[in-house]
Amino acid sequence: MKLLEDRIITDGKILGQDILKVDQFLTHQVDYQLMKAIGERFYDVYKSSGITKVVTIEASGIAPALYTAANLNVPMIFAKKAKNITMNDELLTTEVFSFTKQITSTVSISKQFLTKNDRVLIIDDFLANGQAALGLLDLIEQAQATPVGVGIVIEKSFQTGRTRILEKGLKMTSLARISAFEDGKIKFATADDAAFDALTK
Ligand code: 5GP
Repeated sequence: MKLLEDRIITDGKILGQDILKVDQFLTHQVDYQLMKAIGERFYDVYKSSGITKVVTIEASGIAPALYTAANLNVPMIFAKKAKNITMNDELLTTEVFSFTKQITSTVSISKQFLTKNDRVLIIDDFLANGQAALGLLDLIEQAQATPVGVGIVIEKSFQTGRTRILEKGLKMTSLARISAFEDGKIKFATADDAAFDALTK
């Protein structure tokens, strides 16, 4: 997605070997116009896939997931990282290792929100080694729902996540694919939605 790649070049900051900081528009301050465009793009890709739920993980997946769900006209569910006293329903739970926090946390979704009739689109802000997306896939499988695809705002293609998701037979849609950080510059591979850029010009 050209709009997103341009924004990453303008506002993204490389931290160390393999982290991109995008707190200007995605992970802290959120640019709703960009999120709206991202939601429209995921809609373009998945509008004919019979999606009934969009699932993400708190916190930074919520903004792109919500705009995607709004376009698909379905509910958005975010997996919660900490159990609180209002969560007294039966829960689907799994363990997710956080790439940025370097800790494992238990994440959960209430059983009532995912059922075997659901066709689910996973959305997340970043893809690194795939732990978050695979954790969500585990919850979807526990619910016996059907995972349809994984939509990622920013994929770091030099890490292992993409291969691990494709191995599960899921469709992958990354709107920006970073192939390398080279001499302080961000290099992109062709995004999965590139064909749609030409249509929306
Ligand atoms: P994974 O689970 O695929 O290893 O990592 C994805 C998760 O880690 C995302 O939900 C995101 O919160 C976080 N993450 C991974 N890489 C980055 C990065 O380069 N920048 C930021 N801001 N978050 C990242």
